Amino acid sequence: MVKAVVGANWGDEGKGKITDMLAKETDIIVRFQGGANAGHTIVNDYGKFALHTLPSGVFYNHTTSIIGNGVALNIPLLFKEVQEIVSKGVPEPKILVSDRAQIVMPYHILFDQYEEERLGKNSFGSTKSGIAPFYSDKYAKIGFQVSELFDEELLKEKVERICETKNVLLEHLYHKPAIKPAELLETLHEYRDMVAPFVCDVSLYLYNALKEGKEILLEGQLGTLKDPDHGIYPMVTSSSTLAAYGAIGAGVAPYEIKQVITVCKAYSSAVGAGAFVSEIFGEEADELRRRGGDGGEFGATTGRPRRMGWFDCVASKYGCRLQGTTDVAFTVLDVLGYLDEIPVCTAYEIDGKQTTEFPTTALLEKAKPVIEKLPGWKCDIRGIKKYEDLPENCRKYIEFVEEKIGYPITMVSNGPGRDDIIYRNK
Ligand code: GDP
Repeated sequence: MVKAVVGANWGDEGKGKITDMLAKETDIIVRFQGGANAGHTIVNDYGKFALHTLPSGVFYNHTTSIIGNGVALNIPLLFKEVQEIVSKGVPEPKILVSDRAQIVMPYHILFDQYEEERLGKNSFGSTKSGIAPFYSDKYAKIGFQVSELFDEELLKEKVERICETKNVLLEHLYHKPAIKPAELLETLHEYRDMVAPFVCDVSLYLYNALKEGKEILLEGQLGTLKDPDHGIYPMVTSSSTLAAYGAIGAGVAPYEIKQVITVCKAYSSAVGAGAFVSEIFGEEADELRRRGGDGGEFGATTGRPRRMGWFDCVASKYGCRLQGTTDVAFTVLDVLGYLDEIPVCTAYEIDGKQTTEFPTTALLEKAKPVIEKLPGWKCDIRGIKKYEDLPENCRKYIEFVEEKIGYPITMVSNGPGRDDIIYRNK
């Protein structure tokens, strides 16, 4: 059976923790989109880790971790990450890399930086990991697939051809040094030697694994609102963040995805620019940021302070719907224990009218939050294992959100660790 773990919002909902937790019962974990631009933070028996490229199942002996064809693969970063976890005592993970995954080239990272520099104050707030230039090239059909590393003649010819076009931009648009084809070829040889032992026909591997009854988990990065089609375009990422894309980015049949676990955080946070209706500022935001996540809400990749806000029922209902949610995992609820009252955004007001449906970007820019306040529970809920043992106001908060978003909250996360989870039978 195939399950997907995806985000309902802007990312950073705690997907890494939920994946790490579910990985116990999973044979294969596949990353199907995105690249090293975002990260998952995971706390387990080995310590605290920020993963960017590796699937969040790498900490178990029994799992195979796969980089699917939909990923923007940064080969040196992948292996750096493997070394990092192994150096902290994690057993060498079993890794497979799709022969159809495409490679983040050194020039993608440079172009990302140069373009953000050029845009100045109109920049996208990119993490400058090369993701947008990478996907642009993929769809312009000038990207490099892993399989191409093993065809020397093709590689040489393609490197020459691509340097020609890239160097025109470097010289005339960005006024930066040109790429030397011989150096680039050399780098690609290094990449080839690093990745060679792990290359696999992933869609076939997964097809056979499913026939053998294996459990597969697709791990998404970011969340619905960063999807290029359904998110807050253009302040989105460059690959689809939806569970449906899991079928493509891993190479499995869409009907094999039986469970979509959409992760929602009990309050909101976002990195990068773009509309964020329930955003809060000043001391109120600083306090939530300081207390949030596990040791504060700062980007796992960049260390940037995250933008903070209250739970947004409009965005989350939409986020869950587009994911095709079967289960909601409601995370980081413990953090809200300090509040007397918990504000929740239950609707948007746009041009004097209230709505609970998430609009397109131009309207979203005009939306003002309609806030309702729920009573807080004023205690620490970490360590609680049963739903009935949660304070009444805490249960009321969960049930209020559940009713507003319209999808069942079947898991409540009340701490960063693997065991900090309360299952609800729905
Ligand atoms: P992801 O990209 O969706 O995996 O999210 P991040 O890893 O960026 O952010 C989630 C943060 O919240 C991490 O620091 C997690 O360790 C932490 N976290 C996850 N679930 C919980 C929870 O239930 N309570 C607390 N306090 N922290 C959590």
